[in-house]
Amino acid sequence: MIRTVLHLRRGLPSLSPPLLRHHSAAAIPEPCTQPEVHFNKLFINNEWQDAVSGKTFPTINPSTGEVICQVAEADQADVNKAVKAAREAFRLGSPWRRMDASHRGLLLNRLADAIERDSAYLAELETLDNGKPFAVSYSVDLPNVVKCLRYYGGWADKWEGKTIPIDGDFFCYTRHEPIGVCGQIIPWNFPLLMQAWKLGPALATGNTVVMKVAEQTPLTALYVANLIKEVGFPEGVVNILPGMGPSAGAAIAGHMDVDKVAFTGSTEVGHLIQQAAGSTNLKKVTLELGGKSPNIILSDADLDYAVEQAHFALFFNQGQCCCAGSRTFVQEDIYNEFLERSVERAKRRTVGNPFLLSTEQGPQVDEEQFNKILGYISSGKREGAKLLCGGGAAAERGYFIQPTVFGDVQDNMTIAREEIFGPVMQVLKFKTLEEVMTRANDTKYGLAAAVFTKDIDKAHYVSGGLRAGTVWINCYDVFGAQAPFGGYKASGNGRELGEYGLQNYTEVKTVTIKVPQKNS
Ligand code: ADP
Repeated sequence: MIRTVLHLRRGLPSLSPPLLRHHSAAAIPEPCTQPEVHFNKLFINNEWQDAVSGKTFPTINPSTGEVICQVAEADQADVNKAVKAAREAFRLGSPWRRMDASHRGLLLNRLADAIERDSAYLAELETLDNGKPFAVSYSVDLPNVVKCLRYYGGWADKWEGKTIPIDGDFFCYTRHEPIGVCGQIIPWNFPLLMQAWKLGPALATGNTVVMKVAEQTPLTALYVANLIKEVGFPEGVVNILPGMGPSAGAAIAGHMDVDKVAFTGSTEVGHLIQQAAGSTNLKKVTLELGGKSPNIILSDADLDYAVEQAHFALFFNQGQCCCAGSRTFVQEDIYNEFLERSVERAKRRTVGNPFLLSTEQGPQVDEEQFNKILGYISSGKREGAKLLCGGGAAAERGYFIQPTVFGDVQDNMTIAREEIFGPVMQVLKFKTLEEVMTRANDTKYGLAAAVFTKDIDKAHYVSGGLRAGTVWINCYDVFGAQAPFGGYKASGNGRELGEYGLQNYTEVKTVTIKVPQKNS
């Protein structure tokens, strides 16, 4: 049975139109709730392999707490094997190094096509392993994965160097060369999308990859590994390892033969990655880390729209977004009404079986996150914030949490300072623009921010003063493969997506040639 996108729109009023735009004409298939798992081993050198240790770990369905299947668990020995394969694939004269840049682009496009072909299955598997609503996996994550890979496929033969007019009788030019073997460590909140954000620029520019996927959500990345082989990437170009952070992840970050590491995850682990690079071979490091993003609602904003967008900014993806609008600053004259409507909206949020197309919110990804979020809710109550709705588990089994809203939040409270990564909204009151900008910037983070106002002068003034890598004006979570994303301050280092994303996967080589003059 096929349901139309209209059904989705009714079921998921919180999805912002920009995120859905590309699916306006598409239909959402009725999902299979028990998708078969085809791949659960390590993908090294285009082959499926058991871990050297023979170890496996269970991946859990967060809707039930039950084991989906066992997955091979990589550690240092497997990382060594994968790095060796990636190094061999990067050898001068290898098929990958000799491949035309345009052909690399073609392979990325073929990968995008194969993912698009299998997108219903991949969305089912993502929902099973991660818990996000199928309507979101299918309508948001998958189309953006495909677009990202196509976007970078397009760049493969267009990433040009320069000719440079240096003094003297010389011809000087730059080449943009791949860095080499890139370690990539990705999180569980957008497993497929984070995989595409990492693979796209790395492969477009001719690098080879050893990717460690998050232990909570290994399944879809492994299915994509099989598609990588199917569409014809040479062996060793992409290696995918499920495994734990402190073992497999740390082995990548500290490996002497890895030239670069790209990490997305918590700021705590970001510190460890940078330290590991510093104490080994000074590999290049890019980091996309946590946030505590301010979402500023001025009193002249369209109230209904701002309430809906602020709700979406925080609750989208079960609140598990590094850029979640997790400090909602509301100007004092609309504060009470905004809060009241936000609470009403949160109470209406549909939480439950992520395979139902009417579900807006599924479970948190695992028990650890579930307990951590409940701990933050307790701290909010303890420190004197006003709990206005939610505050507890939303089901007897699985890791579901009630949409929760706190009012009267003060800047120094733990829930206003730390990243909760769950469906818990903090609403804070402010008076003036200067005040709110100072308070918004009073955080170690600087990933994203937003402002809602009808006054263009105020919008520019506020966005200019905010210390964040992305500022949305009258919208939230609007992403494009073409637009860079990354953090100021402790939210990261480097940018992903867009043309800027290519810089972090490229070495610049300057070539200078003596040009003898006629009479010399
Ligand atoms: P979260 O707390 O949200 O799970 P993490 O930063 O712990 O975020 O995880 C993001 C990714 O980093 C995952 O793939 C995880 O396995 C990995 N990771 C965790 N700890 C380490 C570590 N010490 N070294 C390298 N990678 C790690």
